[in-house]
Amino acid sequence: MNYLDKYKADFKEYDLMEKDFIDDDKIWEQLNKWENPSKDDVRRVLGKAEKKIRLEPEEMAILIQNKDEETINEMYALASKLKREVYGDRIVFFAPLYISNKCANNCKYCGFRRENKMIERRTLTMDEISQEIRIMISEGQKRTVLVYGESPETDIDFICESIRQVYNTKCGNGEIRRANINCAPLSREELKKLKEVGIGTFQVFQETYHHETYRRMHPEGTIKGHYRWRLYAQDRALDVGLDDVAIGALFGLYDWRFEAIGLLYHTIHLEEKYNGVGPHTISFPRIEPAIGTDYASNPEYAVSDEDFKKLVAILRLSVPYTGLILTAREKPEVRREVIPLGVSQIDAGTRIGVGGYKKSMGNMMPDKEQFQLGDVRSLDDVIRETCETESLPSFCTACYRAGRTGEHFMEVAKSSFVHNFCMPNAILTLKEYLLDYAAGDTKEAGEKAISKYIDTLEDAKTRQFVIDALARMEKGERDIRV
Ligand code: SAM
Ligand code: SF4
Repeated sequence: MNYLDKYKADFKEYDLMEKDFIDDDKIWEQLNKWENPSKDDVRRVLGKAEKKIRLEPEEMAILIQNKDEETINEMYALASKLKREVYGDRIVFFAPLYISNKCANNCKYCGFRRENKMIERRTLTMDEISQEIRIMISEGQKRTVLVYGESPETDIDFICESIRQVYNTKCGNGEIRRANINCAPLSREELKKLKEVGIGTFQVFQETYHHETYRRMHPEGTIKGHYRWRLYAQDRALDVGLDDVAIGALFGLYDWRFEAIGLLYHTIHLEEKYNGVGPHTISFPRIEPAIGTDYASNPEYAVSDEDFKKLVAILRLSVPYTGLILTAREKPEVRREVIPLGVSQIDAGTRIGVGGYKKSMGNMMPDKEQFQLGDVRSLDDVIRETCETESLPSFCTACYRAGRTGEHFMEVAKSSFVHNFCMPNAILTLKEYLLDYAAGDTKEAGEKAISKYIDTLEDAKTRQFVIDALARMEKGERDIRV
C-alpha cells in the first residue's frame, strides 16, 4: 500500500461528518461584533475570569478586540494574578528530543517538509537515542517531549520502541521520568499501543484552525492535508484512554485572533465530549525561520511581540486551568516578559537538530534544521535566572506517575490542592537538580529560592515532610515526592 493511503479507511469517519466544531464564519462574526468593546464590556468579562470560570468564545473576542490601554493593563494584571493562584510561582522545565526529521508531508512552513533538499535527513537509532538522553539527563533534564516527522521509518512500532528506550536509559542519579509525544495524528489502534508503553501527554498542533489556510499550507495528497483527521486527533486519544492530550496552533499562518478563538473552541469541544477533561496544555509557537523554507521567513500573518503578549494573557484568562507552554523558539527578552502572564511550562537547554545534544558544543546550535531557536541559553543559566526572578523551577513528574491525569488531574487542578502537590514537588525536584547538576552560583540562587518557598507552604505537615525530605536528599536519597 502507498504510504499516503495509510489512513484512507480511517478518513471516512470524518469525510462523512456534515461539519466539524470549527465554524470559520461564526468566529469572524464574533470578532466583528466586538470590534470596539467598551471598558465596561471588558471589565464584565474580567469579572467572570477572576472567578476562574472558563470563558466563552464571544467573551474571548471582547478581550482580543480590546484596544484600550487602561483595560489592557487590567487584563495583564489579572492574568498574572490567576497564574499565581492556580499554578503558584512554579514553572515546569522540559526539553524536546528530535528523533527523526524524515517526513512524507510537505507543510509549507516546516524545514522537515519532503521537498526541502537543504537538510540532512536522519532518524536516530536506539543507541543514539540513549546517547542523546544520557546527555539530557547529565544536564539535569527529567521531562522530555519526543518529536517525530511522519514517515514509514517512524511508524507506531518504532515510536513505541523509542519511548521504551528513553525510559530504560539511566545515567548517574538521573532518568527521564516523563516522555511526552509530539507526532503526527494516529489511529485508535496505534494510540492504544502508545497507552500501553506509558506516555505523558499526546500532543498534536492543529497549526491553523482556518480551513482555507489549512488547505493552502498542507498540500492535498499528503496525510497532513486532511484537516479533520488532525482536528480529531485528541478525540481518538481520549477514546482509547490516553487522557493527557495537548493542543496548539502555529502562529503566523493566519490571523492570531482567529486562531486564539479556534483554540478555545477546541478546548470546549473536548470538555463537552469528555466529561470536563479539556486539553492538559496549549502551545502557541510563532513561526521561526527555517533553512530552505522561504515561507517561514515571511509568514503572512506574523504576530508582533505586542500581540503575542496579549495572546498569552488572553489564553490565561480564558482557560484558567489549562497549562500554557512557551518554547525556546522565543527570545529570552520575550520569555521574560510573557512568562509571568500565564505560562506554566518552558523548555530550556533545547537542541532541535536530530542528534543535536551530542553534536552541540556548550550553547552553540550545530544545525538549524526545523527552525531557528530564539533562546539558546543552557538549562543551568535559565534555572539560575528563574530562581533570581522570584519563581520556582520545577522538574516535577508526580501527577502523571501517581495517576493524577485527565479527569483526576482536572479535579485536583480545579481545587487549590494544586499548591499542596505542585509547590512541594517543585522544591524537591529543584533540590535534586541543585545537588546533582547545578553550577556554583545556580546552587546559591536555588537554595535561596527553596528557603523562601518552604516558608510559603501553608500546610504544616507538608512543610515538615519537605524539610525532612530535603535532609534525606542531602544524604543521597532521590525521587521523593508528595
Ligand atoms: N510531524 C508532526 C506534526 O507535524 O504534527 C510533529 C512534529 S512537527 C516537527 C512539530 C511542530 O513544529 C508542528 O506541529 C509545527 O507547529 C511546528 N513547526 C513546524 N515548522 C515550524 C517553524 N518554521 N517554526 C516554528 N514551529 C514550526
Ligand atoms: Fe512533517 Fe510535521 Fe514538518 Fe509538517 S510540520 S513537514 S508533518 S515534520
